[in-house]
Amino acid sequence: MIKFVPEPHLLDSPRGRDWPRLPAPPVAGRETRPPATAEVVVVGAGPAGLAVTSALWHHGVRDVVVIDRDGRPCGRFFDRIDRLGQRVLRSPYEHHPGVEGYRDCELVDFARLHWARLTPVERREIRMSQAGHRSVVPVDVFEAYCAHLAASHHVGEKTWRGEVREVLPAADAVTVHAGAFTVTARHVVLCLGEERRPAPDSWWGGGPTPPGTSYWDEPAPDGGRQIVVGAGLTAAHLITNALSAGREVHWVLRDPGERYQCADVNSTFFRPEGRKRFDSVGWADRLALMNQFRRASIMFEFQPLLRQAEADGRLVVYRGETVARIATGVGGTVTVRLASGRRIAADHAVLALGTAPSIGDGLLPAELVGERDGWPALDERTLVFERAPRVSAVGAATAMVLGPAARNIDGHRVATTRAAAAIAAAVREESPVRTLREAVGV
Ligand SMILES: Cc1cc2nc3c(=O)[nH]c(=O)nc-3n(C[C@H](O)[C@H](O)[C@H](O)COP(=O)(O)OP(=O)(O)OC[C@H]3O[C@@H](n4cnc5c(N)ncnc54)[C@H](O)[C@@H]3O)c2cc1C
Repeated sequence: MIKFVPEPHLLDSPRGRDWPRLPAPPVAGRETRPPATAEVVVVGAGPAGLAVTSALWHHGVRDVVVIDRDGRPCGRFFDRIDRLGQRVLRSPYEHHPGVEGYRDCELVDFARLHWARLTPVERREIRMSQAGHRSVVPVDVFEAYCAHLAASHHVGEKTWRGEVREVLPAADAVTVHAGAFTVTARHVVLCLGEERRPAPDSWWGGGPTPPGTSYWDEPAPDGGRQIVVGAGLTAAHLITNALSAGREVHWVLRDPGERYQCADVNSTFFRPEGRKRFDSVGWADRLALMNQFRRASIMFEFQPLLRQAEADGRLVVYRGETVARIATGVGGTVTVRLASGRRIAADHAVLALGTAPSIGDGLLPAELVGERDGWPALDERTLVFERAPRVSAVGAATAMVLGPAARNIDGHRVATTRAAAAIAAAVREESPVRTLREAVGV
């Protein structure tokens, strides 16, 4: 695997600049409800949902309702990134949620349009990208680009805040229950992303985290001694942030060494030949490839920093150790007991245990998901659920069809191309027959 060690100055892009925005109607509504019917409901407005809705717009499918817990396009994605203080993306300029094949303004075009707002370092990275080299994308540019995509494809005004609890397919339509409202659609696309992995029940008896312990994507107090549990890039970010705030950090990792694992995958999997390699083998080999190629990050910027902190005694690393129990004592001190019997006491513990793809279980009836080894049964050509052909998936849930890159932004673009074209074809075929209102009798 190629290792890319970005120099520290590349990672310091400014955040929160004011970007010119296309005039667009406001985001649909946080308090109000969407129409009761739509041609298509997209669940999840992250980069995947944004890509699908934009692609459907190009296909002429405009009667779309997007439902997201947060109610704004890509809200969770940027909340998570900002929580970790990340200023640049892990993926290069070519990986963006724009629509394939429609001559849209792509991420690199957008960045060039706003040249005057970029720092000299950011401009040099664009030139690197144009010359075909690996380049670093500022989060600021990516966020402004997502806002541009949402405005230019009318996604914001179709996005409604709601937690989808049930997706019930019938022969002619699919009913989506989202707490305060219900929408019936001909087709539903699940763009659910990934949820954080919870700690095993045995750590504190299950349920909410004990006082003084939080997950990586939750607010955590400043100051004091901190324990970080987890081996991935998220853990590396948390540790780096705590060290730069002058905190003493204790790092527990299960593996014998650091891996900085993240959503980076072997770059061949972003290209047709990599997907072909995945396509041409059976289920067991695909599972093996998934594990083999989602390993260490190709960005190794943390390694020198953390090694130095360990040498200085500001960071204590517990390699090859697993957590047995977490408890909060008198005065709020958190104690993490390791399986080896060692104990670590601190003011706060943060758990960065990774994420798991949401595959539609808990929303669709289990028999329709067809779960196998944690993955749904999807049609390889259209990405519809084999047992619920009016429901499709885009994003991480498609990884056993498209390969490990499905969990990254560029993989969403490949999935979007397949899923949106199939839905648009089905809508065109169905529309002349009878309207959705007639089909569902409302
Ligand atoms: C810190 C961090 C940095 C990353 N950086 C990169 C990067 O640089 N490049 C890259 O390619 N990938 C990166 N990733 C991976 C990244 O998460 C995905 O590429 C991207 O967010 C996936 O988009 P998505 O739309 O599939 O998921 P999400 O962005 O998670 O969006 C899914 C949305 O669906 C909503 N949702 C889920 N279930 C429901 C429900 N039942 N009802 C209503 N709404 C629901 C969620 O709340 C969320 O808003 C990063 C991940 C993290 C955590």
